Amino acid sequence: LQRRRLREFTADWVADHGGTGDRLVVLAGPTAVGKGTVAAHIRTHHPEVRLSVSATTRAPRPGEVEGESYFFVDDAEFDRMIAAGELLEWATVHNAHRYGTPRRAVEEAIAAGHSVLLEIDIQGARSVRRAMPDATLVFLLPPSWDELVRRLVGRGTESAAEQQRRLETAKVELAAVDEFDHQVVNVEVGEAAQKVVDLMRPRKGRRHAALRQDLPRTEVAPQS
Ligand code: 5GP
Repeated sequence: LQRRRLREFTADWVADHGGTGDRLVVLAGPTAVGKGTVAAHIRTHHPEVRLSVSATTRAPRPGEVEGESYFFVDDAEFDRMIAAGELLEWATVHNAHRYGTPRRAVEEAIAAGHSVLLEIDIQGARSVRRAMPDATLVFLLPPSWDELVRRLVGRGTESAAEQQRRLETAKVELAAVDEFDHQVVNVEVGEAAQKVVDLMRPRKGRRHAALRQDLPRTEVAPQS
């Protein structure tokens, strides 16, 4: 029993000090919930957090900057990245374009001791869970379904048909909430961003303290 405790204790310690647990956080959630806004807020107000820049086959929107918003690549280049194993995960989003997380930047940032945030879709979150089981998965929720509809329609970036399609997808996506480690309700962007960042703080000590209480104490006889 003592050996098992020691093994658990060691696994825990490795997760906290050497694993990706606290430092690789995935932010996912249904369409239009405000993932992008929360991620942008974190980029501006929490420069200590590294945001992964994805590769995508979609065209840049006005104002988007190559290498900051995304790495904009064509289909052939995306195929090459997949074949070369350069993507930690990738997915076709909204039945349209492909998006993927470049593996190297994430691994290097974690190795350098930084916290890394991936703002990706739910399929991507599932792939990260498989590839890095100790990553922290956060699901961003709207305050209500009506509010989600309001946000999607309100931003006016999609046609009515596309809005309808995305709402159907959102229903399916919301059902994935239980697969995530944490849920954050996006009422106000600054508050939601803070909650996500708080999840990235090292947990050092907390679980250890609980475990330590279980470990048998060794009484040392006073030296005479
Ligand atoms: P948008 O085209 O509006 O920038 O992004 C569309 C969707 O793609 C968002 O839901 C976003 O989370 C997702 N996305 C962005 N980058 C990645 C990525 O690297 N991997 C995956 N799986 N999804 C991504």
